[in-house]
Amino acid sequence: MKTKDLGTTAPNTWCPGCGNFAILNAIKPVLADLDEEGLVAIENVVLVSGIGCHGKIADYVNANSFYAIHGRTIPVATGIKLANPDLNVICFAGDGDAYAEGLDHLIFAAKRNIDITTIIHDNRVYGLTTGQYTPTSPSGFLGRSTPAGLEVPPINPLEIVFASGGSFVARGYSHGIELLKDIFREAILHRGFSFVDVLQVCATFFNLYDYYNERVYTLEEHDPRDRDRAEEKMREWDYNSDGPIPLGIFYREDASTFGDNFMKYNSKITDLEGRIRGALEGFL
Ligand code: SF4
Repeated sequence: MKTKDLGTTAPNTWCPGCGNFAILNAIKPVLADLDEEGLVAIENVVLVSGIGCHGKIADYVNANSFYAIHGRTIPVATGIKLANPDLNVICFAGDGDAYAEGLDHLIFAAKRNIDITTIIHDNRVYGLTTGQYTPTSPSGFLGRSTPAGLEVPPINPLEIVFASGGSFVARGYSHGIELLKDIFREAILHRGFSFVDVLQVCATFFNLYDYYNERVYTLEEHDPRDRDRAEEKMREWDYNSDGPIPLGIFYREDASTFGDNFMKYNSKITDLEGRIRGALEGFL
């Protein structure tokens, strides 16, 4: 499998300069490499996307895919994984998609440690509907629905996922794809719920390239198994202050997945049934 084999003939309608291109151009070589190395067969990959500009990524990658409805990418991805645990499910969602309408699903997927990968195209604006604020838009954001400036501070999605029990928490940026490729590869190979917030610039309605370029840096000599340090680094930038903005894998731990726990529960139920049946037979 080569990267070019993962392209499609669907006409790309993203705006020139859109950060979605970086995510697309990072995920394709990662999937091709994983297939080539025998780690993840492409026929076992399922991409799930939601509503928003990002959703079209399902059209642009030649792999099994499913367009979900707004805010419901994670439940669809969860259902696919539970129905067939052999599949490798990668969920793409926007910040409006996953942090507004779908926030409860994100929290519960992290809590349950569902073995899927979730990549958020966090452009901090509703781009498809031409520029309204989202949960990660900064205070003062000037958009179609807030012409006098947004008065509400943003959420920090990394802290939310971490506090909910996420076992892999990372942040990427859509300028330059090498770091994105590294993070995506590790996220896909991680066993458990992998969460990657990508600062994906909307070139048309919220162009933050200059702002990010002055502030981002890559985590180095950071041990992602260190919970306290991971939390400290996640708090270094609250999506509102001036930075600096760390990028990379903040936190990673090996923990039992929802599938593991479900199997354990099933065997306990089978055992309980056997004991009840045995007790009843003793009465009869
Ligand atoms: Fe990308 Fe923004 Fe254009 Fe949507 S509106 S395709 S997010 S640049």
